[in-house]
Amino acid sequence: MTENDILPFTRPDIDEETIAGVAEVLRSGWITTGPWNTRFEQALSDYFGGRPVLTYSSGTVTMEIALRLLGIGPGDEVITTPLSWVATANVILAVGATPVFVDIDPVTRNIDASRIEAAITPRTKALLPVHLAGLPCDLDAIYAIAQRHGLRVIEDAAQAIGSLWRGKRVGSFGDFASFSFHPNKNITSIEGGCLALPPDSDVDLARRLRLQGVQRSGLDGMDVDVLGGKSNLTDVAARVGWGQLQRLPAFNARRAELAALYFDALAAIALSERGVQLPPRDLEQSNWHMFQIVLPPQLRRAEVMQALKDRGIVTGVHYPPIHLFALYRARGFKPGDFPHAERVGASILTLPLFPAMRDSDVTRVTDALDAVLRQFGL
Ligand SMILES: *Cc1c(COP(=O)(O)O)cnc(C)c1O
Repeated sequence: MTENDILPFTRPDIDEETIAGVAEVLRSGWITTGPWNTRFEQALSDYFGGRPVLTYSSGTVTMEIALRLLGIGPGDEVITTPLSWVATANVILAVGATPVFVDIDPVTRNIDASRIEAAITPRTKALLPVHLAGLPCDLDAIYAIAQRHGLRVIEDAAQAIGSLWRGKRVGSFGDFASFSFHPNKNITSIEGGCLALPPDSDVDLARRLRLQGVQRSGLDGMDVDVLGGKSNLTDVAARVGWGQLQRLPAFNARRAELAALYFDALAAIALSERGVQLPPRDLEQSNWHMFQIVLPPQLRRAEVMQALKDRGIVTGVHYPPIHLFALYRARGFKPGDFPHAERVGASILTLPLFPAMRDSDVTRVTDALDAVLRQFGL
């Protein structure tokens, strides 16, 4: 990249070895779910300390499958955060259950665990916390609440592969954990996802739910006794995902380095003193899926983004609060319901961060940010 190139907020990094491996799969005569999928699942299971792990065609469907495995449906409530990608709440609606939002902690931007118990009713069946930007939620508090109230937990860890909670990998312990391999995530399989299952779960059912519910036994060597969908991962995707998984530790180490550089460079332009909120400086546990700042309320985010883009810096919005989308407003949610999520959602800005970024790209971003904030009177 030259200095004048546009700097995106993220970009996948697929190496030549993986590209050659994909060509081999394509020539092999078996391109959908097969040996590479098995190999990828085994490598993922090893990564998560030997737990059962299944791949799926997206990180959205993994969460839907987890909800179905738990028998969650009409009449049930699932507690989640309003500040996430809309998939997090959509899957609750998809199984016919009711999403119940709990406001975020404005510092971590994750669900505020201290507010969860007040939202629990006799209909509550599960907690669906999100590790936003890869910063782990307070899992001690969340699992303690789940245990006290007999609730299941599905961690939306779409952004948190490689994140740690008290030294343990997210997904290697606890109840269900769902990961996404969308191209924007820390590793990709183009599209795809995986579900880490607790040891007591029905792994065979979780597997059958991704392919029409087909069971390899009984009449004519197969039977169908449960309605499954079609959400298997192709071997082409699995080959990409496997190649990426080998590089995940290096990717995440580079992300942490870049995050540390951001903290230094943003301190040098006194960003906090100018009313801009930084993410928690968690260089131990976060996988630094995103580096997000929150602009002061008087600035219009869209104008700041355009001014940065004019300087070659592309930023992102992750995310507008879910409860204010039309689909959710139609269910009775309204502005003012979750003030912290609304305030953060209105002003959060994702800065460029991906492993192939150079050190000098960080200062390119912070120099541009410094100039743009001055332009807007900060
Ligand atoms: C990406 C993402 C998802 C959905 O994953 P897909 O693979 O795109 O279906 C869900 N939740 C969060 C928080 C995400 O970032």
